[in-house]
Amino acid sequence: MASSSSYSNPPCAACKFLRRKCLSGCIFAPYFPPEEPTKFANVHKIFGASNVSKLLNEILPHQREDAVNSLAYEAEARLKDPVYGCVGAISVLQRQVLQLQKELDATNADLMRYTNLVMNTTQRRSFDDHNRVNVGYGGGSDSFDPNPGYPVPYYCPSWSNGPPGENPETGGDD
Ligand SMILES: [Zn+2]
Repeated sequence: MASSSSYSNPPCAACKFLRRKCLSGCIFAPYFPPEEPTKFANVHKIFGASNVSKLLNEILPHQREDAVNSLAYEAEARLKDPVYGCVGAISVLQRQVLQLQKELDATNADLMRYTNLVMNTTQRRSFDDHNRVNVGYGGGSDSFDPNPGYPVPYYCPSWSNGPPGENPETGGDD
């Protein structure tokens, strides 16, 4: 990263590729290590070394690594898909996101319906059971579970503060 004063390292991938001497202030050296020769080769083929060095000199040092990674990604994608490049991958991913968002919305709607159904059923059961206790609660206690262990995987907080209008089960006390 920082400028290293003693420079006995092997030349960076860029200088090796361009067959020139890698000097101590080489703009490519921090981002194109000799272990990754194809990284620079791809970037040079698509963007050109002089354009890349110009770009790196124009941006702030802390942005250079991200810029180089982006260039390397775009160059690789362009070589794989000369027509669309990384735009092809991006549009595929965007389509996936849209489709998954639709599936998620549908699943959340199903969960809300299911949870409403469970809540209405348990309310009705507890109301019926409350009335039934006076009659006699001796026999089949397994026919009713007062605390069903329904897992409610999705909890919508709007239910807790918004009462759903008139509810014949709960409002019937005189
Ligand atoms: Zn170099």
